[in-house]
Amino acid sequence: MNLNHYMPFRIIISAIILVVLVAGELLAAPPTVTAARIGGDNNKTRFVLEIHGSPSFRTFSLANPNRIVIDLDEVSWNIGPGGAEGKGLINNYRYGLYTPGTSRIVLDLKSPVKIATSFVIKGEGGNADRLVFDFEKITQTAFNQSLSRPAAARSSAVSTSRTPASRPASNKKIIVLDPGHGGHDPGNLGGIKVNGVAEKNVTLSAARNIKNILEASGRYTVYMTREKDIYIKHRDRSGLAHRLNADLFVSIHADSFSSPDVRGATIYTLSEKASDREAALLASRENKSDIIAGVDIDEEPGEVQSILIDLVKQETMNLSSRFASGLSRELRKEVSVRKRSVRSAGFLVLKGIDVPSILLEMGYLTNRTDATLLMQKETQDKIGQAILRAADNYFAENFAFN
Ligand SMILES: [Zn+2]
Repeated sequence: MNLNHYMPFRIIISAIILVVLVAGELLAAPPTVTAARIGGDNNKTRFVLEIHGSPSFRTFSLANPNRIVIDLDEVSWNIGPGGAEGKGLINNYRYGLYTPGTSRIVLDLKSPVKIATSFVIKGEGGNADRLVFDFEKITQTAFNQSLSRPAAARSSAVSTSRTPASRPASNKKIIVLDPGHGGHDPGNLGGIKVNGVAEKNVTLSAARNIKNILEASGRYTVYMTREKDIYIKHRDRSGLAHRLNADLFVSIHADSFSSPDVRGATIYTLSEKASDREAALLASRENKSDIIAGVDIDEEPGEVQSILIDLVKQETMNLSSRFASGLSRELRKEVSVRKRSVRSAGFLVLKGIDVPSILLEMGYLTNRTDATLLMQKETQDKIGQAILRAADNYFAENFAFN
């Protein structure tokens, strides 16, 4: 009886809550970039962003290679995958979340430029505002003089800072999965022409499924260096594994190659000397992430320091190699793997880390079969199963008495 009396009241309350929530969502929605256009020639080039909402922005220049960086209050992007091709003075541009609260666009320059003007044209009647940048060609000397240091970025990723600073009490082994690239660093774009997928999306999608497979076993606690499309520095990726005192660190990537026929997975470990030319080239491509993203790479530690680190790291490197060959065996049962499946080179993301670590290139986005398979949950689960069995074997063989 009483219930019937209360019912309409409860519905009204629910409706009010719903309205408040929806209104809150709308108010909280970040500005949206709906178009990016480039016009002009090799002397003067105009870059235009159409934006709903009015984020504040700042710009700065970086050299080696020459870039213009535009930082905006966090925006959402509605202009397709990153790595869009440029025109005129701009080779290409990338964009994405840099740190929580800040989105970044990086323009790779064909030649040094100055920003002649930048202004906003207000959109009338619900149309987007236009944020306009006019670039003019200048000499390299003038460009170098214009270089300004960006203010220190706000502390890194959400997923990094939320995690505990020390190892949680549990019998489970800790594995850190590192989905490569993210935010305005799209990774390799070899798949864009094949099926429209940038490496950063494949790596995140795969890592999520691999995490589920590992955790479903009940034997592992898995942390991710990023859970969304955000940029994270190399040292913050390995830093998370270090702070968690993790048992394994697996960085997940997908490769590209000039020949579309090349396919299959490869596993990489860290070494001072690359095992072959291809591994060296790959490492230099992967290492560029921090450079193209407009972040200075940490200075290498001094020589004495690095010798000490090397001594400590010898055991870590041995364990990494053991896990790598075990993973190669298991991966082969599930997916296509390259003939020389375990290689080594100087990968920054694996450096300065005291946790056994590997970098997995799951396949080639430039190969149609790999590109299609790698975006399928079924394939990602298979890779997860292979990592799970390899981890089980690795811990059983190396830590039987722990
Ligand atoms: Zn990569």
